[in-house]
Amino acid sequence: MFKLVNSHAHVSVPKECGIHLDITAEKKCKACGLPMCNTGVCNAQDYCKICKNERFIFSLTKVASQLMFFIFIFGGLLILTGSLDKKYFTFILFAGIIPIIIVQRVKVSGLFRGLTPKQSVYPALYRLHMGNDIDFYHEALSRAVKAKKKGENLNYPIIRYGLLQGVLLSKVAVPSSWSDEWAEILGYESGDKLEEEIINEFFDDILLNIRPGKSIGALPIVAKVVARSKNKENAKKLLLAIKDHLTDIASDELDYFGDEYLRDVFLAEDYLMEIKNWDDELRKLVDEIFELHSQKFEPPVVPRNQREAFQLMSEEAARQQKLMQAALNKSQKEIVELSKNQSSSRKLGEVSLEEEE
Ligand SMILES: [Zn+2]
Ligand SMILES: [Zn+2]
Repeated sequence: MFKLVNSHAHVSVPKECGIHLDITAEKKCKACGLPMCNTGVCNAQDYCKICKNERFIFSLTKVASQLMFFIFIFGGLLILTGSLDKKYFTFILFAGIIPIIIVQRVKVSGLFRGLTPKQSVYPALYRLHMGNDIDFYHEALSRAVKAKKKGENLNYPIIRYGLLQGVLLSKVAVPSSWSDEWAEILGYESGDKLEEEIINEFFDDILLNIRPGKSIGALPIVAKVVARSKNKENAKKLLLAIKDHLTDIASDELDYFGDEYLRDVFLAEDYLMEIKNWDDELRKLVDEIFELHSQKFEPPVVPRNQREAFQLMSEEAARQQKLMQAALNKSQKEIVELSKNQSSSRKLGEVSLEEEE
């Protein structure tokens, strides 16, 4: 909903072509950055098939809106001059809007024209990651279901990578059943197993991304998997990262992103409690985390009646707005600091040049 900072997840680049999943990538699309090989639709192309389709759809949209304009003007004139009866007004309105509706309907699916279902899955997940548009989640899923029905294998690293990037670390709320839906398609026995494999495969990338202002909602899932897999090394890495972020939050004025992070830690509490019992080092870390967390976190209040629920809701909205403003002020301050630093370093450069002369 809010895009104050660049919210994309930063993860290492996949090695395979986004369209031909088992071929090594040789280049990137010049428009969207999709990794591409030199086979089939990728061969001798600077832009991926999806970006080319996008340009085509864009020109279709232009034609459709010009057509609408023309129909409205022409129909309007006919009615005004009396050549056409007034009762056709609704008909003209309808005729003008239809091309627009058609273009809107193919806006997402039309992007994958000319690609097989299997070839469309990663590009759709990639667009979900780039554009934060939930339509791409459904598109990726329906293409994957079609590919599965054709008996195709989809369990490639790049697809798991797409799920990490587009789904797990996404800012869009995807259905909570996502891991079960994809587990069936990719041939895992359960959604839990799929989550586990993705998180272990990309653990270091994930640690860089579950932080305030980055991926909201991923922390509880990661903590759940770490607790279940009994991996002490990952647990320690995770706890140290949480402790760092909470230390920052505790020492600063609370803003919207900090608040979201505190809520994620709250949702991960049960899993942290599990990890706590593994050994003394982890116990100490978890205790420190809970101590830091309690400094700024207000646990949610359960309303006793409808009137109270309404009051709590409006209080929460006001609080969120205040936090949002704090986040805005903070990022503005950061931009000002950044430009100050840049101009002062430029001045230093000028001085040293003069000295050389
Ligand atoms: Zn592209
Ligand atoms: Zn390719």
